[in-house]
Amino acid sequence: MTHPASVITPHSAEARLAPDARETRALLETVALYLHIPFCHAKCHYCDFNSYAGMLGLREEYVAALRDEILLAGRRARLANGKPRRCRTVFFGGGTPSLLTAGQIAELLAAIRDAFALDPDAEVTMEANPGALEYSQLDTVRAAGVNRLSMGAQSFDSALLRWMGRIHSPDEIETAFHAARAAGFTNVSLDFIFALPGQTQAVWLDTLERAIALGPDHLSLYNLIVEEGTPLFTWVQRGSVREVDEDTAADMYEAAQERLARAGYLQYEISNWARPGHACAHNLTYWRNLPWIGLGAGGASFYAGQRFTETRPIRAYIARVRDTLASEKISLEGSEETLPAAAIASRETISRELEMAETAMLGLRLNEGVNLDVFAARYGMDFWEAFGERLAELRALELIEEAAGWVRLTPHGRMVGNEVFARLLPDG
Ligand code: SF4
Repeated sequence: MTHPASVITPHSAEARLAPDARETRALLETVALYLHIPFCHAKCHYCDFNSYAGMLGLREEYVAALRDEILLAGRRARLANGKPRRCRTVFFGGGTPSLLTAGQIAELLAAIRDAFALDPDAEVTMEANPGALEYSQLDTVRAAGVNRLSMGAQSFDSALLRWMGRIHSPDEIETAFHAARAAGFTNVSLDFIFALPGQTQAVWLDTLERAIALGPDHLSLYNLIVEEGTPLFTWVQRGSVREVDEDTAADMYEAAQERLARAGYLQYEISNWARPGHACAHNLTYWRNLPWIGLGAGGASFYAGQRFTETRPIRAYIARVRDTLASEKISLEGSEETLPAAAIASRETISRELEMAETAMLGLRLNEGVNLDVFAARYGMDFWEAFGERLAELRALELIEEAAGWVRLTPHGRMVGNEVFARLLPDG
């Protein structure tokens, strides 16, 4: 949705509308809602997400707890005038949300509509595993209000899919994609992973070609990360798997940038490309450091100047939600807890200094960068002043640049983004 007061980014190639200072002030009063669905058919070898195989038997209880938590979150997030808070986007992530029935997705969306003022044109995304998608339910899921599907395709190479522990085949990606289109989904995203051990540039380019041939509206490309605690980590430690070196990974990334640009996709974030008008509104909330509430086992939120996360194990989460609701019922004064979640396991108050640094770091992930007027209006401080010498150094090294009121990473800065981000964090 566009707005006449929006500002146009200076980068003509991806000229898109971004919120100006006034709109940002209004957006700070809204939320993006993430719902975590922690079930998977099998655990992929590289995955360290809060997801569990073999626990589908808890699905009904989990959905009931999540529904109750949504209602509680909506009550606690009400505006001062008692009205429900506006919610702009919903994201069913996981785990594997497509393991829920269409009826369960509809039930959770109905709870969101009861508890929050959900925009009529809200972007509602559901992640789907091509190997765990009930094609016959796609119509019902869409009718319930899901209008964007994000599929974890990961590769079109069957050997690599098996190596990753994925349960789907390349053909199933295509079948799932066509089923989504047939059900009327006009906003479909595909995720892929590159720099996989044993993956050659030719294999990677073949995956990209097959992805482009499908014509998705959005693509996310992630460099494989070896996370501690995963089977992959153990293999690398033992020496049975060798990680792809940085230069090869960089070559794959650059090849993807070039190929996707030729195919008409605009890169708008370090790992994300979209056809014009199909950037992910939910994820833009994270990168613009606007408030979000993440509900469900292990959900994370940034809201009211606090970052908080929820209990991770599924059974413990369900029990915590039940306890919180029971204690709210018997306490005449109501709960002292004001944060909109029922199973909080950890919390942190975000200082203004840290929030400014995070706004800069996250904003620089975007190709549009950070808008200087918006930053100054949000924090009452000039961007360059806020980071002083730390930024001057990055500018001298030509890792960041300023153009027409925006600061962004240079192409070289984009290749060493983590180094840039680390320098923006406050000391200590
Ligand atoms: S399907 Fe996704 S969440 Fe589930 S184990 Fe695989 S990578 Fe992890």
